[in-house]
Amino acid sequence: MAERIDGKAVAADVRAEVTDAVSTLKADHGLTPGLAVVLVGDDPASKVYVANKGRQTVEVGMASFEHKLPAETSEADLLALVATLNADPAVHGILVQMPLPDHIDSDAVVMAIDPAKDVDGLHPENAGRLVLGQPGLVPCTPQGSVILAKRALGASLSGLDALVVGRSILVGKPVSLLLQNENCTVTMAHSRTRDLADHCRRADLLVAAVGRPEMIKGEWIKPGACVIDVGINRVPAPEKGDGKTKLVGDVDFDAAEAVAGSITPVPGGVGPMTIACLLANTVVAAARQAGVPVPDLVL
Ligand code: NDP
Repeated sequence: MAERIDGKAVAADVRAEVTDAVSTLKADHGLTPGLAVVLVGDDPASKVYVANKGRQTVEVGMASFEHKLPAETSEADLLALVATLNADPAVHGILVQMPLPDHIDSDAVVMAIDPAKDVDGLHPENAGRLVLGQPGLVPCTPQGSVILAKRALGASLSGLDALVVGRSILVGKPVSLLLQNENCTVTMAHSRTRDLADHCRRADLLVAAVGRPEMIKGEWIKPGACVIDVGINRVPAPEKGDGKTKLVGDVDFDAAEAVAGSITPVPGGVGPMTIACLLANTVVAAARQAGVPVPDLVL
């Protein structure tokens, strides 16, 4: 039976490190890292994410700046707010909650964020730095996924055969780059991949980031492999009552748990790591902007 990788516990460890780093920055340099989160519209899921980000930002001792704008906000007004935040010395990280309303060009907004404050790691400069293996700001969910794999497999992933299923800019591509930087031999699978099962069977480390409920079957998993399931899918749960739903990952958890060496549950696996890594990125961004030593977060 696989070890369950406890994302909540690892995220708590990361937040504890961030808390220590923030108090050191305050004590040694009079620096309080600040994170600005911008929400446009009132998408219920986005509101919950933004509230959680704000609460956790304050809990680790950082300054939280929340900007809630109406859904009809123009692109020009949003870009003007981003420019103000770029220029604000109290703000070290800027996150614009996605998705944005259809009339706003998300790419234009991401491009407008100062790359030094792009704690979501989505600006092309940070994406390029990741490709080049240079220090930048790394997207949070991919970073969290790799941290969990390292916790499960020991610090070194060197030489492992890794399979990343999904090649999105948000998750799959950055995960594959991070794993290459960890000296894994990385294969990327996507919707046109032939015989996905065969690729899965060869993977010591399998990262699923597809968005299709339980599509990766237990019998595809290499015995003893580490399985990181990034997928979050809401499906009907008639066993909980009429009209009820539940969250499942991209991996058939029960069957995979019987074969794998370690596996992340959904929920409670990768999900909690995203905000923890966002906070860590904000600390790193603040230290770099202030020109003081970057805290040694074990990420
Ligand atoms: P996208 O829809 O952007 O990308 C999905 C990827 O899966 C694409 O590359 C697609 O291939 C590939 N794919 C689709 N169908 C298949 C298939 N049958 N076989 C193999 N590959 C396939 O999704 P995201 O990357 O944004 O998100 C993936 C999942 O991760 C979602 O469930 C999302 O909710 C979750 N997620 C979780 C986060 C968290 O934990 N905090 C954060 C972000 C995402 P192709 O490129 O060929 O179309």
